Amino acid sequence: DKGARPHSMLCQPQIFLRQPQAAPKTVLKLFFYYSCKKRIYPKDLPTISVVLIFMNEALSIILRAITSIINRTPAHLLKEIILVDDYNDLKGPLETQIKNYNAKHPGLLKIVRHEKRQGLTQARISGWEASTADVVAILDAHIEVNMAWAEPILSRIKEDRTVIISPVFDNIRFDDFELLQYSVAADGFDWALWCLYEPLPDEWYALKDETAPVRSPSIMGILAADRKFLGEIGVLDGGMHIYGGENVELGLRAWQCGGKIEVLPCSRIAHLERAHKPYLPDLSIAVKRNALRVAEVWMDDYKYMVYFAWNLPIENSGIDYGDLSSRKELRKKLNCKGFDWYIKNVYPNLRFLPNIVGYGTMKNTLKEDICIDQGPVPGNTPIIYPCHAYSPQVMQTNEQIFTDEVLLTVTFKLDRCVTDPGSGDLPILEQCDIAVSKGLNLHWDFKQGSAVINRNTKRCLEITADNTGTYRLVMQTCTGQRWNIQHTVKDWGKTKDLEHRIQQ
Ligand code: UDP
Ligand code: MN
Repeated sequence: DKGARPHSMLCQPQIFLRQPQAAPKTVLKLFFYYSCKKRIYPKDLPTISVVLIFMNEALSIILRAITSIINRTPAHLLKEIILVDDYNDLKGPLETQIKNYNAKHPGLLKIVRHEKRQGLTQARISGWEASTADVVAILDAHIEVNMAWAEPILSRIKEDRTVIISPVFDNIRFDDFELLQYSVAADGFDWALWCLYEPLPDEWYALKDETAPVRSPSIMGILAADRKFLGEIGVLDGGMHIYGGENVELGLRAWQCGGKIEVLPCSRIAHLERAHKPYLPDLSIAVKRNALRVAEVWMDDYKYMVYFAWNLPIENSGIDYGDLSSRKELRKKLNCKGFDWYIKNVYPNLRFLPNIVGYGTMKNTLKEDICIDQGPVPGNTPIIYPCHAYSPQVMQTNEQIFTDEVLLTVTFKLDRCVTDPGSGDLPILEQCDIAVSKGLNLHWDFKQGSAVINRNTKRCLEITADNTGTYRLVMQTCTGQRWNIQHTVKDWGKTKDLEHRIQQ
């Protein structure tokens, strides 16, 4: 559809509101803050196991990763590199390379092979299981570590074993291997649990130290942690399939169960961002399922926001997210805090909508194969367009009608409300705060199966066909057209847990 937002874009941090001072791009290939270079680390640090997971990766790519780790990690701290092969066709050539490396560095390289493909999370867990050093870094195999990437991790974990660390990604462009610097950010997510970058918090700027750790709601994927501590809090959720969700699961679990997540600006890892993920024709099937596991185990009554974001009914979603009993037991055993604590204390940018009453596709009874859509972006004219079910095309409270961008965090200021400009024949989308402050007509009366009437102008949101049979979404004097929204929610937000949020 015209409206679907490009999720992957959100994981590219150029869209920050405020950028830290970055090293000039043209001078150095190895990007660094000047102050990172000046930092001196103790010699006596914990040892590290580096895990590289892969599936159908080119041998040359894996060798680049290994070489960078050997060259850029102090030898006395690098205990081992563990390759986890989540089913590859490289057996022979890779074996030969491992022998060559081990001839020079006895025992440094180990390999764990899955007999069949088990998925990203299992690959990371297998790597953790095989690791023996004090600290474990679990990385993709299509990376190169930067100068002094390990020392910031090891000294931070030495100070505090409960910190899970998210190194900073830079991007190795897939078509020409150019290295592109990403600015430092906090790792966040939207309600579909897709990753997104959040600007650095004010408290971080207040420190006036660009090497300082950044408190982060979640991780992007790669991580480093105290090996034993990671085990104590349950490593990763082995019930995840193929790809996605495991990063947010770790983020919530770490914070809710007594740990924390930090991004370390001086620990940088260049990561090859592939154009295409070769795992499933539609990767969102796995991501959606995994997101529901996270929601069901960790998010309490807030979990319905995830159902909204994936445009699923909150009861009988039809998605088999597998057995959750051991993860729920873990939450109990660790005596973890609730999601209400998390959203208030760790991730207040996550916009919670306690008063949603409807979401999904919105159809006019005159013409049921087309739906209200946010229309071309950029642009602010909602249109009538083929229906799709991938994300809610609209969301509705008792008063307002939004496009699905409202499910992004407040950082993006992308939430848009349907308004009636009062003249002309088109409705207009406006950022909701602005609509409120300008006194625009953003309040609607709508009940399932009835007209959509603007409370101020009394005009109706309706459709008209021109003489070619093309439909338009218009504002006009009501003619009695009726609308239906795909999913309705009766008691959302009425539970005890969430009641106090409604008053806010
Ligand atoms: N991976 C895996 N098994 C799978 C899917 C992914 O081992 O079934 C690995 C993959 O080789 C990579 C990591 O998981 O090292 C993350 O996947 P990818 O790089 O495709 O995701 P991205 O980094 O783009 O989010
Ligand atoms: Mn990757």
